Amino acid sequence: MRIDKFLANRAYGSRKEVHDLLKKRFVTVNGEIITKKDFSINLDTDSIKVNGFEVPKQEIFYIKFHKPAGLITAVDDVSHRTVMDVLPPEYKKMGVFPVGRLDKDTEGLLLLTNDGVWAHKVINGRKHVPKVYYLEFNGELSEDGLRRIREGILLGDGTQCKPAEIFLINDSSARITIEEGKYHQVKRMIGAAGGTVTYLKRESIGDITLDDIKETTQYIDLSENEVNLFI
Ligand code: URA
Repeated sequence: MRIDKFLANRAYGSRKEVHDLLKKRFVTVNGEIITKKDFSINLDTDSIKVNGFEVPKQEIFYIKFHKPAGLITAVDDVSHRTVMDVLPPEYKKMGVFPVGRLDKDTEGLLLLTNDGVWAHKVINGRKHVPKVYYLEFNGELSEDGLRRIREGILLGDGTQCKPAEIFLINDSSARITIEEGKYHQVKRMIGAAGGTVTYLKRESIGDITLDDIKETTQYIDLSENEVNLFI
């Protein structure tokens, strides 16, 4: 495998950033400084270091999954089927876990990885990541309720939400964009505005969308660009 591809896959940056690391002589293979971006490495035998730190050989996965309703977002559970139960067992063996969570009855985009640093950046990173949800609801979302959601709604338990974008598609469905990830957040926001969510689907996280995985239970690797959005 080429050294630049290997390092980009291990989240050392985009190919261009990896090329800079090589040019700056930060990368060694078996103790020798490597500057050629197409240098060929042997993953079984070579010791690859960046800035003196060994780069783990274990394959790192970045996956987007179209979660169906009915599965809980966890790696293991004694009494419920989890998202890991419908993914290939190799993922669990390689330490892959869900990044953030969707409720059991929520569908849509869920990211998974075995790169803890990357997961942390997605969830707690300095960049505010907008998450878009499509929802159906019973009851009525009044103009006042919509205004309060847009200005930052106060939930029943006193939790203050940040301003969110919402627009009604018709009188029983809407699309909402939030940047936070509080427990049952969308359901509680809609509840505080007078509605009851009956269906919820996450359509996107930042620029990562469900466009290329239309069917539930489908999953694909994130592209290099998608991984780098959070680095
Ligand atoms: N908000 C919710 O209420 N539930 C989810 O699963 C995600 C966001």
